[in-house]
Amino acid sequence: MDNWLLYILTVAAIAIGWWLGRRERFGGKPADIAGANYYDGLNYLLKEQPDRAVATFVRDLEVNQETLETHLALGGLLRRRGELEKAVIVHQNILEKARLTPEVILDVRLELARDYLLAGLLDRAESVLVELIQAEGRIQRESLRLLLEIFEREKDWRKAIEVAERLAVGKESEKYDHAMSHYFCEIAIDHLKHSQPELAREALSEAIGRDANNPRTSLVLGEIELSAGRYQDAVRALQRIVEQNPIYVPESLKLLVRAYELGDLSQEEMRSYLLDCLRQTPSISIVLMLARSIRDQEGDEAVSRFIAHHLKQNPTIRGLTQLIDLHIDNAHGVARENLSILRSFAEALVADKPAYRCRSCGFDGKKMHWHCPSCKGWSTIEPIFGLEGE
Ligand SMILES: [Zn+2]
Repeated sequence: MDNWLLYILTVAAIAIGWWLGRRERFGGKPADIAGANYYDGLNYLLKEQPDRAVATFVRDLEVNQETLETHLALGGLLRRRGELEKAVIVHQNILEKARLTPEVILDVRLELARDYLLAGLLDRAESVLVELIQAEGRIQRESLRLLLEIFEREKDWRKAIEVAERLAVGKESEKYDHAMSHYFCEIAIDHLKHSQPELAREALSEAIGRDANNPRTSLVLGEIELSAGRYQDAVRALQRIVEQNPIYVPESLKLLVRAYELGDLSQEEMRSYLLDCLRQTPSISIVLMLARSIRDQEGDEAVSRFIAHHLKQNPTIRGLTQLIDLHIDNAHGVARENLSILRSFAEALVADKPAYRCRSCGFDGKKMHWHCPSCKGWSTIEPIFGLEGE
């Protein structure tokens, strides 16, 4: 593109930016068709000659009340396009050159912090935000939110708690209390890893204090009790999950079975608990755990009947595979071969299928996460039920 064309486009972008700014001041809304054209123009400019376009803007376009919108739009656009270094240049330029009102300065600095955060420059973002949280109202709350995002990313749970305390007011108090409950769970797990059971217990009681209905607190408490050799207490803790949210019972099964085995506790009691869970949530993991116990005590035929009965009501491929396994052991010749083929077919059907999905953003994976790696929601990931899942 020639220089003159670049010049004309720049001037056009400024003119439209100015016009939009003027309209907004006189009560109009900037996000109309003209607004879309304006962004299209900027986008085009950036696509053709990104370096020169940004350099021209920064060098030639004075930053003042009239052109501020244009500069901010360019900065925002660059960030959305992932050109974070350029976004930083544009936002810094505004702060250096313009004589702005204190409120606008705070807004521009918040934009700069967002650039840093997205670019992964967490230290820089943090130092800007720590100053911005001294402000009031919207700027303070938005800065606290971004700061919380940084501490979550850094897994600095203590600092995250400090920030969340300040955010947990009004309508959003429940949301941040729930997040804090997870931060304390994280701290408890860390203590447990470092063989500090008493500290783990302390952190966990804080976690329960923030949200007594968070099923993860029961899982972590179960682990603490199990590692202390208090098997009956571990069972009691783990069995609370069915009241908190029965869809997470499958997450507790390994610990539960270990507590029953190590504590030499009644298998019958475990079975009656699992049957109760099954009535509330038709999970194949629970069926298979029950199947193990039934097989040990009543033999193959009883367990086949039990699985087949459950499959009729809630067909799953994992259940089918288990049923085939039971029959393979007693089959011979061609029948056995056919069952093997059927089994590998069933296995292939679920091999690449995710087991968990985030109800908030749709992220799916094979592993359970309490913190969604994609949308960063807490307790938004759930086991997938249905034919190919639980
Ligand atoms: Zn998500």
